[in-house]
Amino acid sequence: MNFTDDTAEALRAAVWLVNSAEDPDTLESLEDESAFLTDFPYSGRLDRDDRELAALRAVRPRLRAMLTAPRDEMVDHVNDALAASRLTPRLVRHEGADWHLHAVADDRPLAERVLIETAMALIDVIRADEGSRISICADETCEALALDLSRNRSKRYCSTTCTNRNAVAAYRARRAAE
Ligand SMILES: [Zn+2]
Ligand SMILES: [Zn+2]
Repeated sequence: MNFTDDTAEALRAAVWLVNSAEDPDTLESLEDESAFLTDFPYSGRLDRDDRELAALRAVRPRLRAMLTAPRDEMVDHVNDALAASRLTPRLVRHEGADWHLHAVADDRPLAERVLIETAMALIDVIRADEGSRISICADETCEALALDLSRNRSKRYCSTTCTNRNAVAAYRARRAAE
């Protein structure tokens, strides 16, 4: 199963935002927002002000609920989000991205576009029944999301930090058992 580039990118952006809410919060300032926009260069309206930042921060719990819901509940989240937005789907091509769908107008607030792009990406996830690609990090102490877009489904941790911590713990446990 391979998602299209725009779907994969939308999922990565949504997971970045959700994980930014973990302690310590990494989306607290306009500088943080800038870092997000460097990693995920959204086209369209970017206000880069406190209001936009607050809306992005506020949408994170909803993104988390959407991304972690069981399949049928995910459908409800997606349908609710789509129903609440004025959809004007059209194919666009812009710097860094070949033809893909923008479901809402480029002048809609960033948080709304993020929410709708996430919903659109989850349509692919739901249709392909690939919800298991999104999980809560396998580290016992970590609540961040792990997004596994790899072919061999090898990713269980949210980050290299969690991967390494658990590799070290597993090594020590083996050594102790010997
Ligand atoms: Zn685009
Ligand atoms: Zn983790």
